[in-house]
Amino acid sequence: MNHTFAKPPAVFDGLLGMQDWYVNNIRDYCRAHDSNQTDYRREGCFAEAERNHLARFAPSFSETDIEDYGSLKNFCDYYDSLHKKYCPDAVYEPELAYQSYADIESKLAKAEEYFSSGYFKSIDVCCGEGYKPFSDYIPLYRIAEKYGVLKRMHVGETGTAEEIEEAIDTLGLDEIHHGINAVHSPKVMKLLADRKITLNVCPTSNIKLGYAKSYAEHPIKILVENGVPVTINTDDLLIFDSSIDEEYQHLYDAGTLTAKHLDEIRCWGISNRIEK
Ligand SMILES: [Zn+2]
Repeated sequence: MNHTFAKPPAVFDGLLGMQDWYVNNIRDYCRAHDSNQTDYRREGCFAEAERNHLARFAPSFSETDIEDYGSLKNFCDYYDSLHKKYCPDAVYEPELAYQSYADIESKLAKAEEYFSSGYFKSIDVCCGEGYKPFSDYIPLYRIAEKYGVLKRMHVGETGTAEEIEEAIDTLGLDEIHHGINAVHSPKVMKLLADRKITLNVCPTSNIKLGYAKSYAEHPIKILVENGVPVTINTDDLLIFDSSIDEEYQHLYDAGTLTAKHLDEIRCWGISNRIEK
């Protein structure tokens, strides 16, 4: 791109610090470089899925990503072509994520269109916790439920273990993104273990955002010891610069988890599809 990018700080000032850095340093280089609306950040994820031999690839998209292509059909055609071009062997499970602070009521009509298409396999709410009571998202998750997609949410990354439980009870979540603060409550860890609610954990993200101290002290160790199902993920490949294989390697090198544990997590990650 003929541009020298500033190095990110070792640790961002939380989610907002990361967002600030992204907006000021790289966002303009990530999107819409030409009339074909190429998004190198996204395309790179598909290429990486192949390089990393991913069996199950679940990239997250926002409504804006769809709108950028003018229609849902154009969007689907474009990303299907990337799937076909780069990683045809990976099971492709696109996720549609909503911003936690969005006005939910105004999103419902489009959500109906997007989920009824069958293109998206899961729903997520992300971009910061605690903006609204969980009950505000019920209409959105009802639509997701109607079309049988996996119900996920970013919760317990900065929020408490009790909030994880409340989100599960209120929205009927099938899985949690992050959820690492469950580690502070034996009761919530037991609930996750008993109901087999998977936490999709992103170790490097947690460390770089200041939500975990180090790989060695990452909460995933205690979560696994308490029988909580987890998967290991990249969160944001471009910013955190750590691929799936590297995430596993970091946890192994730091002595956080044994090879046996890591392999069990790998198998769970590619097999835990909930049949609806
Ligand atoms: Zn995330």
